[in-house]
Amino acid sequence: MTEPLHVAIVGSGPAGFYTADALLRSEEPRVEVDVIDRLPTPWGLVRLGVAPDHENIKAVSRAFEKTAARPGFRFFGNVEVGSTVSHDELAAAFDAVVYTVGAQTDRRLGIPGEDLPGSWPATAFVAWYNGHPDFQDLDFDLDTERVVVVGNGNVAIDCARMLALPAEELAPTDTTEEAAAAIASSPIREIVMLGRRGPAQAAFTPPELKELGELAGAEPVVDAADLRLDPASAAELEADRDRARRNYELLQEYAARPSEGKPRRIVLRFLVSPLALVGDGKVEAVEVVHNELVDDGGRIVARPTGETELIPAGLVLRSVGYRGVALPGVPFDETGTIPNTAGRVAGADRVYAAGWIKRGPSGVIGTNKKDAAETVECLLEDARAGALVAPAPRDLAELLDEKGADFVDYEGWQAIDAAERAAGELHGRPRVKLHRWQALLETGRRIPR
Ligand code: NAP
Repeated sequence: MTEPLHVAIVGSGPAGFYTADALLRSEEPRVEVDVIDRLPTPWGLVRLGVAPDHENIKAVSRAFEKTAARPGFRFFGNVEVGSTVSHDELAAAFDAVVYTVGAQTDRRLGIPGEDLPGSWPATAFVAWYNGHPDFQDLDFDLDTERVVVVGNGNVAIDCARMLALPAEELAPTDTTEEAAAAIASSPIREIVMLGRRGPAQAAFTPPELKELGELAGAEPVVDAADLRLDPASAAELEADRDRARRNYELLQEYAARPSEGKPRRIVLRFLVSPLALVGDGKVEAVEVVHNELVDDGGRIVARPTGETELIPAGLVLRSVGYRGVALPGVPFDETGTIPNTAGRVAGADRVYAAGWIKRGPSGVIGTNKKDAAETVECLLEDARAGALVAPAPRDLAELLDEKGADFVDYEGWQAIDAAERAAGELHGRPRVKLHRWQALLETGRRIPR
């Protein structure tokens, strides 16, 4: 067994940092980690996915900072596996490689009109308002009175809530100035969320649903008729002590609430699926079909009734889940994950996976801690068995320098972080994000050695 073990972790979101932390805590063998990210900044969805008005959730980054301060940790931002450096080069240079790249794209609806202007994946909208440098030139036209958000998960709720925030609620967040201005000045009156199944099957969680009832500039709207339960859903709720039941209680409360006349409404619809997005050159309406619920081998699924309806809308956000993207040279499954057993990648020695690319896009940030621990346990077991030895050990910094690759190291990220926080302080905001590649690279560039 070589000591210390050198492990490359590709992806610096929660799964990457939890993997790094678990590895750096190992005493036998001792481990050094190089965490690689395509972006110049670490933290993945904690920086670029978590909604800007959820500053308390972003606080998990303090734990990641502690991991980064451990001996044996290095960060390599602006390094893309597949272009800057190949999987084969990493696999040769390191004793083991762990992929924690998350799920980088959206699932498709597969309906006519899906690509009409005005129809966007929610993932792109989230990346835009969060300052992801690849999404800043997208032209989100919010000049509409009604937005439809397809899907009933927490990302759909995040999008609906963000669209409903007035200037005073956006001001103390790290939403980009462009997105905050566009949202606050938009004529949006109604945001309609479409759930294909019923209220008992909604994927969102009670704290997120509860927030919709506490907004300054918007109120939730639920039709009591939508809350009638079929016997199977009633039985499901009866058995549930947690998420579904609490969701249902909140929805009942919203259905009974008189309107307070707030400027924007968030309408929660159930048992409707989009059939097509329609419009002349851009989205003008969503054609939906009403569904009924049927038991399909123990799972309650939606079945179209044939009754349709047209919902006028100038913007549609498709929020039906994320999807993993294949990496050149790394095994990939049609389901959008890297095939693996407990984190050991199938058919690739010394290669591992953790987080969404390992198990699919589900769970909260903390779910990745247990997930990463399982992968690390397998990796360390293999190391102790003598199975992890790099065929051609190389120092990554040297390899990248040799390639002329301009990477951002952890000090570079700290410079970006400090600049953003200083800019935020002037405006009473947690940070003003650098959201253009040039600004990020200029601020994070290494001092020439
Ligand atoms: P998700 O929780 O899997 O929800 C996806 C939603 O899309 C479900 O309601 C699903 O309905 C619906 N859907 C799928 N295919 C559809 C179709 N063809 N037509 C209509 N609806 C369709 O995914 P997510 O919202 O992207 O969230 C990903 C993960 O991140 C989740 O675990 C979530 O909890 C987490 N997250 C957490 C927070 C937070 O804690 N605040 C914030 C954001 C995200 P069915 O149930 O019928 O399939």
